[in-house]
Amino acid sequence: MNEHDSERISGLLEESGLQRTSELDEANVIVLNTCCIRENADNKFYGHLGNLKQLKEQNPDLKILVGGCLAQKDQDQIRERAKHVDVVFGTHNLNRVVDLLDLSKKNGPIVEIVEPFEIESDSSSYGVLPVRRELEYAAWMTIQSGCDNSCAFCIVPQVRGPEVSRPFEDLVQEASRIVSDGVIEITLLGQNVNSYGRDITTRLRSQEEGPKDQILAGPHWPDQGRRRARPLFANLLQEIGSIPGISRVRFTSPHPKDFKREVIDVMAKTPAVCEHLHLPLQSGSDRILASMHRGYNVSKYLERIHEARRIIPDLAVTTDIIVGFPGETEKDFEETLAVAAEAEYDSAYTFVFSPRPGTEASEMTADFCNPDIVSERYERLRTVVLRSGLRKHQERVGRNEEIIVEGPSKKNASVMTGRTRQNKLIHFESEKKIPIGSVAVAQVVEASSRYLRGELVEVLETPKRKMRIPVVAV
Ligand code: SF4
Repeated sequence: MNEHDSERISGLLEESGLQRTSELDEANVIVLNTCCIRENADNKFYGHLGNLKQLKEQNPDLKILVGGCLAQKDQDQIRERAKHVDVVFGTHNLNRVVDLLDLSKKNGPIVEIVEPFEIESDSSSYGVLPVRRELEYAAWMTIQSGCDNSCAFCIVPQVRGPEVSRPFEDLVQEASRIVSDGVIEITLLGQNVNSYGRDITTRLRSQEEGPKDQILAGPHWPDQGRRRARPLFANLLQEIGSIPGISRVRFTSPHPKDFKREVIDVMAKTPAVCEHLHLPLQSGSDRILASMHRGYNVSKYLERIHEARRIIPDLAVTTDIIVGFPGETEKDFEETLAVAAEAEYDSAYTFVFSPRPGTEASEMTADFCNPDIVSERYERLRTVVLRSGLRKHQERVGRNEEIIVEGPSKKNASVMTGRTRQNKLIHFESEKKIPIGSVAVAQVVEASSRYLRGELVEVLETPKRKMRIPVVAV
């Protein structure tokens, strides 16, 4: 979500006439778009900010802007800790970045944070901001912002506010426009994509006047003989996956408690929807899941994974797991290991619990786990996850995989990298340069726990660049 916000900030600044540079010393404007999900990111940010002080001393005209969810959380504190910052803005007013930059040039430093309760519930303007895409062939689309859940460890509801879904028609139109620009892969973003549209119904129900009756009658959403008041995420996934010209649709993240059969069915029957499911587990202990307020238990979670694997052929499953949540005992942790082994993840993001100020879990200090025990548990979990990742990858050796070429590998420029539909990286050597965004086939020859090595079989399609021809009135 933050990376996509960075693309929007870049898009707005470039549209205002600024040019991008990769050299920090050359920049007249530096924007740090921050994340506060983990303590580590907080600390890193203040380190980066400290390093920029010298640049500002050398070039007093340099403008330093700080946005994102850490800015939303820390607000005035940022300027208190770093007087060389010119603008602080939050997650709800990134569309104001150009105005705030101009204002700071005229009037000096400015902190402008919009609180979640101040935002309009109609977020339809969200999609019309210019975007400077990092990859020409792939785009992110935010379908919903904020979150209505209250996971004890999570700061997102505080900094991103309640769930607000973007209108269905706007999303389909935006996706069609992006695809006609040459994008072949779209990732739908939301904190809890499966509850997409729930807030639309609530809003309509609370309206005293207006088209409520007509919309609540559900003219668009027939549901087994009845009418449904709102589109479901499955409707959106199917509609976007059916746009002519789109090759891949991904989404992140579904919440296990709201991940329903209809989404699995759409994934199975819509060829463009990729065979990859990221389903955050967080803990394999029912006791800890309840304490986290996650709203599901282990057996429901595993049932969903087994069902999805049964219905969607060749599905890759990934997850997030937190180690050392307050009160986690050895028994709880062993249950997590057992679930990780049973789920046979293709890969997992594993995190050590980090208390975020203002969350319920940060108050559970009496139950904080011993850091040495947590580090040891973290390594044990990593071993289980890497082992299942390696096994899953070894099963792919000898197979031909469809990839989209992402460019030269970061570590070795003579090696190209492509991504499979299951979101796996394949590195392969190629004498000729293959344009980024090409669709190709690679045969897997070697597996490791994190990536695959392959040989190029053929290039199926090179990217279609759109050439805009100005229309002149005569
Ligand atoms: S579902 Fe839970 S973890 Fe995810 S954003 Fe919402 S509160 Fe945070």
